[in-house]
Order: sequence, then structure tokens, then C-alpha cells
Amino acid sequence: MPRFKEYNYNQMVMLPISFERQILPGTFEHSVNYLVDEKLDLSIFDSRYNNDETGRPAYDPAILLKIVLLAYSRGVTSSRKIEALCRENVIFMAISADTSPHFTTIADFISSCPEQIAKLFQQVILICDDMGLIGREMFAVDGCKMPSNASKEWSGTRTELKKKAQKIDRAVRYLLKKHRDEDKKGHAEESVRRREEQQIEKLLAASDKIEKFLQHNQERLGRNGKAVKSNITDNDSAKMKTGHGVIQGYNGVAAVDGKHQVVVAAEAFGSGQEHGLLEPMLEQVEENLDEEPLDDAKVLADSGYCNAGTLDYLEQRQIDGYVADHGFRSRDPRFADAGRYKPSTTDKIRTKSRFTTEDFQADIENRTCVCPAGKTMWLKCARARIVNSIFMQFQAHQSDCAGCELRAQCLRSSKQKGARQVNIPLAVLPRVEVGVLARMKAKIDSAKGRHIYSRRLGIVEPVFGNIRETLGLHRFTLRGKKKVDGQWKLMTMLHNMLKIHRYGLAT
Ligand code: SF4
Repeated sequence: MPRFKEYNYNQMVMLPISFERQILPGTFEHSVNYLVDEKLDLSIFDSRYNNDETGRPAYDPAILLKIVLLAYSRGVTSSRKIEALCRENVIFMAISADTSPHFTTIADFISSCPEQIAKLFQQVILICDDMGLIGREMFAVDGCKMPSNASKEWSGTRTELKKKAQKIDRAVRYLLKKHRDEDKKGHAEESVRRREEQQIEKLLAASDKIEKFLQHNQERLGRNGKAVKSNITDNDSAKMKTGHGVIQGYNGVAAVDGKHQVVVAAEAFGSGQEHGLLEPMLEQVEENLDEEPLDDAKVLADSGYCNAGTLDYLEQRQIDGYVADHGFRSRDPRFADAGRYKPSTTDKIRTKSRFTTEDFQADIENRTCVCPAGKTMWLKCARARIVNSIFMQFQAHQSDCAGCELRAQCLRSSKQKGARQVNIPLAVLPRVEVGVLARMKAKIDSAKGRHIYSRRLGIVEPVFGNIRETLGLHRFTLRGKKKVDGQWKLMTMLHNMLKIHRYGLAT
């Protein structure tokens, strides 16, 4: 017979807990406690409160900030879970001085203070600067796309949303007609009818939601003035492509200093395209760090940020920028064997699938050409310039192609009505590239340019790795650009506070 230790639930234990002694020096909770109490100016929150004379006392923003930062540092972003931690975890009980705020208070604090969080973010950057954690020699800018609190199923242009509403209405009409027919015949299945009635209610609510959205919102336009998809739940978010598929979310962009990977500017944008985002980020870097931080610094950004407008901006501001273009890797001899940067095999398949110029018998001197079916083609243009190449263009007669047996091998598709055209190459002109894009290509293709640009990955990507994997932020939990921006700044501020903890306070 095994013997076990005895236990008894009918007993009491008095545990003396000193909250101060729970917050041990060297721990992150100690650093948070010190930074919030001693270094940050929390008077910025005063304007939120109006209870000097009347009303009950509010929770101190210092307490709420400490709780939220500590919870976020442990990968907990749910306000209900944070409330539970304050009740059940002795460290959270200590840091909150056992005040146990309700989860709605915590959620309201995070979502309603984006301006104050932006100011705290700036204050933390200046603390990092005072501690010598910011080198001001190199800044890398990049974005981290994350899903938001909105479904991509509820997105579309106004036309698409109208069609969606019409489709839902059709489904409702179909179900109602079905019910009428069943009633006439008198053999309606009770359980199926109940389920379908619930379905009709849901569909009507969905249709109503779309109608209301269309009534109160205009078409959303992209940077080039074209209509882009709106989202009914969070219209500031955008549908964007990521390495893990298409998401509905925000692009959290950060400018990171090269010395200790401190984030010196952060903003969440509801746009998958990064064109035009470098300028506002660099302006934020200047705003957050005094004394002209970009004067002697190098700025690194990947091909998402490469466009003539951005490069012009860098040149005009005399900023030493290194912005890669889409062909940067394929021009780099070190990546010559990397399959990823070789020309796409789909191009070869596509050209092989139909007759190529070699299948046509062209006589350049006599300016004649015979197609694979033996039909004579007519000269369309003797010297046509396409990009930097010169071609002689021939075209078949439409009547020849119309009844040709080789159509499937010759034309782009069986539905093509026009005749086949073929471009016989004559010469390739030397590519003379001028302008700001060419100057950037020459700069970044140089040995020095490649060496400097190679640092980009190591500076900015670990920051996103830390925020996603260590701090556990895989999606934004709020809605609206302002609130999501506040959450992104809170996360990047926490990243910077961890740097302060690691390089300063903990030692
Ligand atoms: S489709 Fe036209 S161009 Fe092609 S082989 Fe037939 S006749 Fe010649």
C-alpha cells in the first residue's frame, strides 16, 4: 500500500508579503517601477481627469502604465488577463500595490491615450539618448505587417460591397420564398425552419451593416487617387500581402538606431504599400531626437521604400540614404547562384508554350518574314524601339490566322481575334540610366554601398522579432489608426525600456 503526504484544506496560513520586497533590483519590474516613478513625466495624463472637486478618485496612471508595460513584456495583451494577473500574481499585486483595477479601466487606458503614449515614447527615447544607447550613425527603417481587429471578409470597394449586399439580399429572398412554398404545401421541418430563420436574421443584420457603412462612408482612395478596398469593421486598416498570406491589418513601421537597436520613431500605417513612408519616419526621427540627428547619419531602407519621390527627398535634404531597388540582389554577383534571384522559369515556360521568333523565317535585308504555317507576313515597322532594343516588326494577315491549324501554338489564347505579330531583334542600345534612381543604383551597387546596406537586416529585423516572438504581439487588438498607432508606440516603447533595463538599470 503506497503512503502519501497528508494534506488538509481545513487550515489557514498567514503569508506576510511586503510589496516593496517583491520588486527586486535587477528585474524588469524594478526597472519599470523606477522609470515610471522617477524618470517619466506623467503630468501629461492630468488633462484626462476632471475630479479635483467632485467625483471619485481615479486609478493613478502610473499604476496602470506599470501594470500594462509589465503584462505586455510577458506577452499578455488582453485586459481581462491583466486584471486576473493583478488578482492572482504576487508580482502584479506588488506593482499595482494591490489596487486591482477592473479590465475595462485597463482597456480604456490603453485605447484612449494614444497622444499621451506618443509623448511617453518620446521621453523614453530621450532617456536612451542620455544613457548613450543611441549612436546616431545609422538608422534603418522597415515595417512589420500585422493583422488588426477586423476581418478581411468585410472589405471591398463600394461597388464590391454593394454586390455583397445584393448577394445577401438574394439569399434572404430565396429562403423566404422557400418558406412560403413549404407553408403552402404544409411540410416544413421544424428544426430546419428554426435554423433558417436564425440565418435570415443574421443575413439581414449583415446587409444592414453594409448599407449603413455605404451611407456614412465615402470611397477610400489610395496614394495614386485610385479606389482601394474599404473595411466595414475598421476602415483605417488595409488588406495587405505578407509572407504568410493576405491579411487585414496595419503596417507598424519603425526607424531603428544601429548602435543598440533602439527604436527612434514608430508609427502604424493602414497601408500595405511602403512608398512615401520614409519621409514621415525621418521627420519623426528628427522630432524625437534633438540636434539634427540625420546630418551625419546613414539611412537604410529596403526596396519597398524605393521610388523617385523618396530618393529626391533624400537628395534635397542631403541625407546619406541607401535604399535598395527591386533588382538590387539580382545585380549582386554574390547572389548569382541564389535561385531566388534567377530569372523566373515561368517566363521560359510561357515563351516555350507558343512559337518564338526562332520559329519565324525572317530576312532582315529583304524585309520579309514567313510564319511557321508558311504564310507571308507583312512589314509593320522597320525599326521599332521598345525600351532599349530595336526590332523589325512583322504581322500576319488576319485571314491567314483565322483558319490556321497552328493557332493554339502561335497565338496567346484561342480567343485572340487579331493576327500574330513578331518582333525580330535588330540591336540592343546601351542602357543609359540617368536621374535619381540611377544615382542610387550606382551608390548601392558600389562595394562601400553594399557593405553599408548589408547592416540593414541586422539592425531592424531583430526588433520586429523581439516584438513578435518575445513580447508576443502577433496582432493589433484595437481598431482605428490612432488607437493602433498608440498600441504600436507602446510596444516599441517597451522594447526601448527593455534596452534601458539591459544596458543600464539592471547592471
Ligand atoms: S496563327 Fe497566323 S502567324 Fe501563326 S502560324 Fe498560323 S497563320 Fe502563321
